[in-house]
Amino acid sequence: MKKYIYADHAATTQLDSEALEAMLPYMRNEYGNPSTLYLMSREPYNAVKSSRQCIADVLGADKDEIFFTSGGTEADNWAIKGSAFRFTGQRKRIITSIIEHHAVLSSCEYLEKIGFDIIYLPVDRKGCVDQDTLESAINEETVLVSLMMANNEIGTIQNIRELVKIAHAKHVLFHTDAVQAVGHIPVDVVSLGVDMLSASAHKFCGPKGVGFLYVKEGTVLHELFSGGGQENNMRAGTENVSGIVGMAVALEKNCREMEKNTIYLCSLIKYFKEELKKTELSYILNGSDNRIPGSISVSFENAEGEMLLHRLDLMGIAVSTGSACNSKNTELSHVIRAIEVPKQLAYGTIRITLGTDNTMEDVKSIVDAIKRILL
Ligand code: PLP
Repeated sequence: MKKYIYADHAATTQLDSEALEAMLPYMRNEYGNPSTLYLMSREPYNAVKSSRQCIADVLGADKDEIFFTSGGTEADNWAIKGSAFRFTGQRKRIITSIIEHHAVLSSCEYLEKIGFDIIYLPVDRKGCVDQDTLESAINEETVLVSLMMANNEIGTIQNIRELVKIAHAKHVLFHTDAVQAVGHIPVDVVSLGVDMLSASAHKFCGPKGVGFLYVKEGTVLHELFSGGGQENNMRAGTENVSGIVGMAVALEKNCREMEKNTIYLCSLIKYFKEELKKTELSYILNGSDNRIPGSISVSFENAEGEMLLHRLDLMGIAVSTGSACNSKNTELSHVIRAIEVPKQLAYGTIRITLGTDNTMEDVKSIVDAIKRILL
């Protein structure tokens, strides 16, 4: 049978087998609630504790700065609304960019409806926020800047460290959505200087439905969920023990193997570009050279991204058009619009995100398939 080629790793990844093995005991015999007082809770309690420590170590954080969530969407919602809710009833300003994931954009739109002043910064053609533009957008009412570390559609990595300095010089908190970055590029919260950072396990071969928000010590954040006293009274809800354990194992492994993986993924992308260049197709590559390893966004002239996606699917190849979580939406993606891809190319955009399970043969097959469809 022909191999199915999965080339949409920015949407989600396959669960790592070591992570799965580590999770299984907590889905079988060690199912105790980590918050109870009897012996049965000890093992799950310790598992959550050591996973928190492991994740904190990988990011250069303190264990008490890691708060488990149900994923990236919740972490983004919490960082933004939790920062804003301290000022309900006041017209405080929050600054973000027009290319953020909808978890951030929709949180901001919600706050706008209840009276907050939201500034959506533009980006340049590579998807980068201009530092001077950020500086001039910050006023005395600003309570938060939220800018993503790596874009989920075009892979561009933002210079977060410099952007943080600008916000901090004006005593404004900084959150970064690092969902596409964590586990793929080095992320050290101390050297970045961020106050909050969101991550999601299923983007780095961990399980779905679990993630975390890093909250720097001393950062005041309103709780999003009310209920029990879990997560140091900051995020109520019984912990997803197996998910947390799997996430820590997957993250530690991804970070340990990051250098090797990066070299391999960059060689796949280099090969993709070389093969594409050999064709007679007319296209442009989107985003910056400073990008998430294994990711590429291509806009083909006079093509239709969605048609391309479906034709490739029929040929056993999975890629994406617009954003990962919104590929059913046929409208031109807000990111492609923001970086001003010319109209005759914009609608023919696809995103290919390779993983370490992809091979050079896969890459060749993808290019051959695109050629067969478009030429
Ligand atoms: N932020 C970014 C940049 C993403 O790419 C995604 C998912 O695609 C999310 C947030 C949402 O994460 P989750 O799927 O864990 O809710």
